[in-house]
Amino acid sequence: MKKISLAKKIFVALILGCICGIIFNIAPQNYFLDHIFLDGIINLIGQAFTNIIKAMVVPLVFVSITLGVASIGNLKKLGRVGSKIIAFYFGTTAVAVSIAIFFTKFINPGSSFHLPNASQVPISHEQKFSISKIILDIVPTNPIESLAQGNMLQIIFFAVLIGIGITLVADKAVPVKKLLESMNEINLKLVAVIMEFAPIGVFALITYTFSNFGFEIIASISKFLFVVYLILFFHAMFIYTIMFKFWTKLDIKKFWKKFWPVATVAFSTSSSNAALPVSIEAADKMGVSRDISSFTLSLGSTINMNGTAIMHGITVIFLAHIYNIDLSTADLIKVVLMSTLASVGTAGVPGVGMLMLAMVLELVNIPVEGIGLVLGIDRILDAGRTVVNVMGDCICTVIVAKLENELDEKKFNDV
Ligand code: ASP
Repeated sequence: MKKISLAKKIFVALILGCICGIIFNIAPQNYFLDHIFLDGIINLIGQAFTNIIKAMVVPLVFVSITLGVASIGNLKKLGRVGSKIIAFYFGTTAVAVSIAIFFTKFINPGSSFHLPNASQVPISHEQKFSISKIILDIVPTNPIESLAQGNMLQIIFFAVLIGIGITLVADKAVPVKKLLESMNEINLKLVAVIMEFAPIGVFALITYTFSNFGFEIIASISKFLFVVYLILFFHAMFIYTIMFKFWTKLDIKKFWKKFWPVATVAFSTSSSNAALPVSIEAADKMGVSRDISSFTLSLGSTINMNGTAIMHGITVIFLAHIYNIDLSTADLIKVVLMSTLASVGTAGVPGVGMLMLAMVLELVNIPVEGIGLVLGIDRILDAGRTVVNVMGDCICTVIVAKLENELDEKKFNDV
């Protein structure tokens, strides 16, 4: 019998999870089903899968970025790869939020929205953010503390420094580089082993999420939900495809085949960080040199959030309409800039993008409390935007690898 591929198994698990979740949601209340089966067994399996995959993130990011920087070998090349990938990340994020604003103004999802039914969750003003704070937060005072707390921007900063140190020390740092290489191999092997359990993990996570969402809340805000998914879909299918074709001339279908397991993990965990181990594995299969992918993907999972920026753009226009606030062109430009920065500050974990929206709303004087109107369905929005976030990391990585002549096209085309 032909062996079923892991990607297919994960896909089937995803669909089964949706179906079972919806059935459990409609099923009459029952102690065993709700508390023992869903809150107990299913939730436990889903959380255990998420935890184990997250446990790999800090060692993976630290080791792969340090190694990535050290393997690039000279600081000139590091500067070139670094500036290219950052230009792509910032550029695509700004395009994403602009498209979101443009389309939302036409579709106007706020028109069928009824304020009184919405869940009003006040947003505490402690969640205000400032740009100088974001920048200062990147520089660690105690790197061990950053590692322990999983502060990704600080870990990346420190890893880049160590990588530069290894490059400068050259020969005398060879043992450290060898140690990092073998740690990297161990990390990637463990990820491959964990991914064998992905069908079960994805099934549990999706079943639990869907069983928790009543149709009422989804229906009351369905037009908004539809617009978010439509624009995410547009960005993923058109903007990324055009970029990909233009810079690599490769077949996007082959990209999708290898990207698929990453998409399912991103969708079911709603976390770019959790999807990182799988995306590094996928980049390997796409023929991207490890020197490039270990640096660009780890960076991307922390600073590149196109899906989050799309959600920001749509929600700003949606709330402006609901609160009857007229946004000038200058306001919209401010939204594009601020949302691009806010996405950089968004950690690759569930739900943070919605909190970062507060700083965009404040900039154009839209009541921050408005976030409460859409917070109830954030888990569903988050799943979709995380897929687009992670896809952006992978697309930009393949493009930069191609531009740097570090893409093995034979491996890419080999399905
Ligand atoms: N969950 C998203 C991610 O990990 C971030 C967000 O909340 O928008 O990419």
